[in-house]
Amino acid sequence: MARKFFVGGNWKCNGTTEEVKKIVSTLNEGQVPSPDVVEVVISPPFVYLPLVKSLLRPDFHVAAQNCWVKKGGAFTGEVSAEMLVNLGIPWVILGHSERRLILNESNEFVGDKVAYALSQGLKVIACVGETLEQRESGSTMEVVAAQTKAIAERVKDWTDVVLAYEPVWAIGTGKVATPAQAQEVHSELRKWLKANTSPEIAATTRIIYGGSVSAANCKELAAQPDVDGFLVGGASLKPEFIEIIKSAE
Ligand code: PEP
Repeated sequence: MARKFFVGGNWKCNGTTEEVKKIVSTLNEGQVPSPDVVEVVISPPFVYLPLVKSLLRPDFHVAAQNCWVKKGGAFTGEVSAEMLVNLGIPWVILGHSERRLILNESNEFVGDKVAYALSQGLKVIACVGETLEQRESGSTMEVVAAQTKAIAERVKDWTDVVLAYEPVWAIGTGKVATPAQAQEVHSELRKWLKANTSPEIAATTRIIYGGSVSAANCKELAAQPDVDGFLVGGASLKPEFIEIIKSAE
C-alpha cells in the first residue's frame, strides 16, 4: 500500500484571533493537490482549535499539540484526549522535542500518551529526534530507536500513527537536515520498525521530516524515498506553507 504524503503545520504557541483568521483564509485560498495525494493537518494552540476547525477548508484537518496521558480529572491546566474527541479534533501531536526537553517528558511518558490517545480514537503524530550533542557523539540512531521503542512497546496497531523525525538541531534554527541526512535516519527508522514491529507496519507507517522545512528546501527532501511528508513549524504560519504542501506532487 502506498504511503500518502502527509503535511502537518505546527503553529506552536503563536497567534491571536485576528492572525489565526488571516492564516486560515490564506490556507483556504491555496491551490493544493487533492486529498487523495496529500493529507494536510493544521495544529493551532488549544484555545484556537474550535475556531480553526470551524473556518478551515474541509479537505484540511486539525490537530492538538498535546494531550494528557490518561483520563481527565484532577490535572489542573491539562487537556484530555476525551475532550479533543468531544470537540471532533481528529489528530494530536505528541512527544514534540520542545515538550521532551523543556518540560522533561520522558520516552515512557510520551509512549503512554501515544497509547492512551490512540485508545480514545485520536490519530497521533509522534515526534522523535536527537540533539546536536547526540548527533555529534554518533548516537542519533540509538536515541531515535529508544524513543520509538517506548512507543512500540505500548502500541500494537500503527494505522493511526505518523512518526515525525525532527532533529532538535534543525528545529527553528534555519539549519535543515540535508536530504541525505533525513533519508538516512528515515530509512534506519523503517528498518527498526521492520525488525521490531512488523514488515507491514514498516512499509505502511508514514515517517515525516521536521526541522526548518521551507518552500526552498521541501522538494529535494520530498524526493527522498523514505520521506513521506513534513511537520512544519515556522513556515506553517506563512503563505509558503502552500508551496510545501505542493511538494507532495
Ligand atoms: C516543529 O516545531 O515541529 C518544527 C519543525 O519547527 P520549524 O519548522 O520551525 O523548524
